[in-house]
Amino acid sequence: MKNDCIFCAIAAGEIPSCKIWEDDVAVAYLDINPCSPGHTLVVPREHVRGLLDADDALLAAIVPRVRKVAAHLKEKLPCDGFNILQNNGACAGQSVFHLHFHIVPRKDGGPGGLSFASSPASPAALQELAARLKMD
Ligand code: AMP
Ligand code: ZN
Repeated sequence: MKNDCIFCAIAAGEIPSCKIWEDDVAVAYLDINPCSPGHTLVVPREHVRGLLDADDALLAAIVPRVRKVAAHLKEKLPCDGFNILQNNGACAGQSVFHLHFHIVPRKDGGPGGLSFASSPASPAALQELAARLKMD
């Protein structure tokens, strides 16, 4: 547990939250600033800053838990789909530096997905970048 971390404090029960589920690995609670009704955070108890700081065992444990909570929300809410969001770094919108997964419930005919500004790239530019980024 990290001393000045609000999500560690919530996981330890030291700060109140609207918790909907927990087990020995993770806690799920409602986001206090929701993008949609039922916007939920799934947060591992272990303090790691972001995705690149988590080991494979933690990630293998957390993803089925994200799915379990998402399935529950889909059953209980008016919810036709959902976004899973996980921000890494302040430039990517991360504001709490303890790994967490957002589940944002969505409804058909609702305001739709998260907005990521995008524009078409040229096939040549994509091919060049893919060549540079190719992994061994
Ligand atoms: P991120 O911007 O990806 O780091 O997400 C952090 C999220 O945590 C934001 O959506 C905040 O609204 C949410 N948040 C911050 N403090 C609390 C809290 N005490 N309880 C529930 N959600 C929180
Ligand atoms: Zn923490």
